[in-house]
Amino acid sequence: MSDQPTYRRILLKLSGEALMGEADYGIDPKVIGRLANEIIEVRKAGVEVGVVIGGGNIFRGAGLAAAGMDRVTGDHMGMLATVMNALAMADAIEKRGGYARVMSAIQIHDVAEDFIRRRAIRHIEKGRIALFAAGTGNPFFTTDSAAALRAVEIGADLLLKATKVDGVYTADPARDASATRYDQLTYDDVIQRNLQVMDTAAIALCRDHGMPLRIYDMTVPGNLMRIMQGGQVGTLVTSS
Ligand code: UDP
Repeated sequence: MSDQPTYRRILLKLSGEALMGEADYGIDPKVIGRLANEIIEVRKAGVEVGVVIGGGNIFRGAGLAAAGMDRVTGDHMGMLATVMNALAMADAIEKRGGYARVMSAIQIHDVAEDFIRRRAIRHIEKGRIALFAAGTGNPFFTTDSAAALRAVEIGADLLLKATKVDGVYTADPARDASATRYDQLTYDDVIQRNLQVMDTAAIALCRDHGMPLRIYDMTVPGNLMRIMQGGQVGTLVTSS
């Protein structure tokens, strides 16, 4: 591992669940604070950072639809949940001395800027941490797809998916003791073996644009920086 970051610009996908720590709902201030510190640390090391945050700690459209709500309305609520999470992360970053901007795919001018690609790139070039909220702005998508989309749009050289497990396994390691972890996979492996990495739309977008994807355990402090220094943490998904 070298001290110089291996990556110039990254897109980090944090699920809403990542923010709730051990709780069943909402945001754990300790968890969001630690994640903010890790993001600031890699920014200070010279890496340009965009972040897509999910909303599953508050609302998911599919869950609301299963409970009887109109799916599109549920998805709108899910997207607004991601805006709340992004505001919380921006606050956590700025309280710790970083610079953040929230850019939303849904117009909500009193609380966030619109996502405009060139402005987003300008923010990250200036050292600000750009938080991309409201997913893609469209129902029936997920924030995984939004993360793949934004990664390609901002020209990231790595898409990181932060999870609570240390990579992709042959089976669910919580249920199958014989499950083993993959160090590396191809996009087609993920799609054909139906590995639960990201949804298929997100993986296909990464594949079509050659966007390397690394799945790693964000509960281990320092993992983000380890990856930035070239550490082989978690599972890498590429074309070969
Ligand atoms: N969502 C959407 N379009 C998008 C992204 C998200 O409609 O482009 C909605 C959808 O209802 C989703 C919710 O927002 O369930 C929260 O996003 P997601 O489930 O991806 O969050 P995560 O699982 O990452 O916390």
